[in-house]
Amino acid sequence: MKKRVYLDYSATTPMKKEVLDEMLPFFNVQFGNPSSIHCFGRENKSAIDKSRGIIAKTLNARTEEIFFTGGGSEADNWAIKGVASALKDKGKHIITTKIEHHAVLHTCEYLEKNGYEVTYLNVDQYGLIDLEELKAAIRPDTILISIMFANNEIGTIQPIKEIGVIAKENNIIFHTDAVQAYGNVVIDVNELGIDLMSLSAHKIYGPKGIGLLYIRKGTKIQPIIHGGAQERRRRAGTENVPAIVGFGKASEIASEGIEDHISKLTYLRDRLINGLTEKIPYVFLNGHPTKRLPGNVNICIQYIEGESLLLSLDMVGIACSSGSACTSGSLDPSHVLMAIGLTHEVAHGSLRLTIGDYTSEDDIDYVIEQLPPIVERLRQMSPLYEKVKGGN
Ligand SMILES: *Cc1c(COP(=O)(O)O)cnc(C)c1O
Repeated sequence: MKKRVYLDYSATTPMKKEVLDEMLPFFNVQFGNPSSIHCFGRENKSAIDKSRGIIAKTLNARTEEIFFTGGGSEADNWAIKGVASALKDKGKHIITTKIEHHAVLHTCEYLEKNGYEVTYLNVDQYGLIDLEELKAAIRPDTILISIMFANNEIGTIQPIKEIGVIAKENNIIFHTDAVQAYGNVVIDVNELGIDLMSLSAHKIYGPKGIGLLYIRKGTKIQPIIHGGAQERRRRAGTENVPAIVGFGKASEIASEGIEDHISKLTYLRDRLINGLTEKIPYVFLNGHPTKRLPGNVNICIQYIEGESLLLSLDMVGIACSSGSACTSGSLDPSHVLMAIGLTHEVAHGSLRLTIGDYTSEDDIDYVIEQLPPIVERLRQMSPLYEKVKGGN
């Protein structure tokens, strides 16, 4: 069979077998509605609460501070719209960054159309925010600071603890989208001063379509999904029991093995970065050299189109992603790469390779072997590259 190498773990992860096994009975055998008072319902109610407890423990949170949602995007929507609506009498100003996931950015843009004001903080060349700029952006009517824990494209990890302190000093609610960080960084919501946090199961070897919002006790937030009394009246809808059970199992596995996971991924990441930057001329790393996710490699290969790279890599079985949003029908380069100061041209040559638990050293070496000749071949067809070479 043709070799296949999956290096797109930031897009989604395969579900672990232990997770699937744990979920299966809840589709047909243990199928009750958790709201029913009979035994079919009750046993599912306790399965949900068990999961909630497991996840809470991995975050040093309380069980009753975990609220399940239909994914990371819903959790982001809830955090932002929910606070905006709860605190509209206090103020209508929100602070976020230019490099957030679209679930945060587009929610903020929606609120801007509805009378709210949003400050989008800049980031430096590594993708880090400036804490002084954050302090300067705070106003008497600021109700929420929403800053992602780790970036999904370039892997940069923000100074979350320092942001938590600033938010607290100013009595502002602090939300973080930790979808990429969870399972890759040790998170203690109390130590970090986080009030609201979004997580998603399918980025940590769990099922798709399930996420959660951590809500610190006492945080003012309105529901956005109205209906039944599920999730302590804060998120209506019959619970996705198999997915919740799977999320719990995936969290447990991720948290037990986190030290090994981090050191294995960091080793493979640095092997890939070094291999590619040594073998290919005109390549540089995007994001911070050390304050970055253990499994994230994002590089710019100059004088090449990321899209043609993706196609060539796909032909040799390597699956990864690029920094331009051509898939969505537009030719706009990623807002994250623009925010760290790249030109359109350079940003188009970006490649994101994200490593996970099933990546082997062989996989990494295969990429280091396959990519350089592909780059060489594509560059031969690039008029720009001809000029550069001629100039040398
Ligand atoms: C994947 C992702 C999301 C969206 O989560 P879904 O569960 O896919 O809705 C949000 N934020 C970040 C940073 C992500 O990587």
